[in-house]
Amino acid sequence: MDEPVYFDYAATTPVRPEAAAAMTDALGQFGNPSSRYEYGRRAALRVKEGREAVARALGCAPGEVYFTSCGTEGDNWALRRGVEVNRRKGRHIIATAVEHAAVLETCKDLERNGYEVTYLKPDRAGRITVDQVTAALRPDTALVSMMLVNNETGALLPVAEAVKAVKAADKAVLFHTDAVQGFLKVPFPLCSTGADLITISGHKIGAPKGIGALYVKRGVKLAPLLTGGGQEDGLRSGTEATGQIAAFAAAVSAVTADPARLEKTAAVKDYTLTQLKAALPKLEVISAGDVGHICAVTLPGYKSEVVVRVLGDKNICVSSGSACHKGRPSHVFAAMGLPKPWLDGALRLSFSPESTKEQADVLVAALKEAAGSLFTTLS
Ligand code: PLP
Repeated sequence: MDEPVYFDYAATTPVRPEAAAAMTDALGQFGNPSSRYEYGRRAALRVKEGREAVARALGCAPGEVYFTSCGTEGDNWALRRGVEVNRRKGRHIIATAVEHAAVLETCKDLERNGYEVTYLKPDRAGRITVDQVTAALRPDTALVSMMLVNNETGALLPVAEAVKAVKAADKAVLFHTDAVQGFLKVPFPLCSTGADLITISGHKIGAPKGIGALYVKRGVKLAPLLTGGGQEDGLRSGTEATGQIAAFAAAVSAVTADPARLEKTAAVKDYTLTQLKAALPKLEVISAGDVGHICAVTLPGYKSEVVVRVLGDKNICVSSGSACHKGRPSHVFAAMGLPKPWLDGALRLSFSPESTKEQADVLVAALKEAAGSLFTTLS
């Protein structure tokens, strides 16, 4: 099979050669970072260097970075233990309705355990305002969770402004942002948002699956989610995944070595949208995306699962929303109040600096052909 024409970088990214090489090298040095002999010391050095690389990219101190197994773990840890930081203050949480399932399902679980969650509704473009966040604050609010970049619309939410406004109103409220789709994809270091807790994940930036990190601002007394041998300064037990950590660091360095990456990515996305609109007059843009790598379109009345399958048969990879939905309608597009035919036909397209206009042309031609041959509920 030829290389796929891949427009699903928000679902996951190919492992970068630099990351694979660093991982292979680190796996060769198999020591446990906690062991007090040379093999262990070498492994511990890998972890230290990895932490420093991730911290540089986040714009924080290495001691504020804790490695996790994935973004989902980071979100779970931030929410489940974050609310406990403010145990005495209350049991109210503010989250946006467009969060990833890793946050939303955790919120639902917290609701089953006596917490109350206010879900902020987006507008038609998928945006949430700072005023919505501050208006939802209550004396018993323990935590706010607001994602930085939405994984289905590419909307950039005003996290830095919301942190400022929330802290001005009540500095005790803990602020978490799921920045899994924002890490190295926005033109500012994530810690400049001022959030107390920031979730990131390696497989969205060319590292393998199975590694992520949670930034915990110095001074925030977050309890561990995983208890055990006391690794990661006692906050995240489990023998460190030295191979994945080395790969994560190598991916971070490789990505940041290309300062033009955001513009390159956005240029192909903009080109794709222009070509799609010209070739498919019925296509509607749900969100052009504030970031360069994600946008959402719809072919109203078509079934996106069918379109995704037809394109997949031609080795063209797009998604009908978050990869985690597995066929269920997108809660994000539904929360935006899109009409049913728009929901049915929704497609997410996501890009990387490696995406090309030639690939975009292949996608546009295939989508035009699919739209011409498939049954629509509106025809
Ligand atoms: N948060 C967002 C916004 C995501 O897009 C994803 C993955 O798609 C996650 C969290 C979960 O990250 P992971 O796949 O590393 O668990």
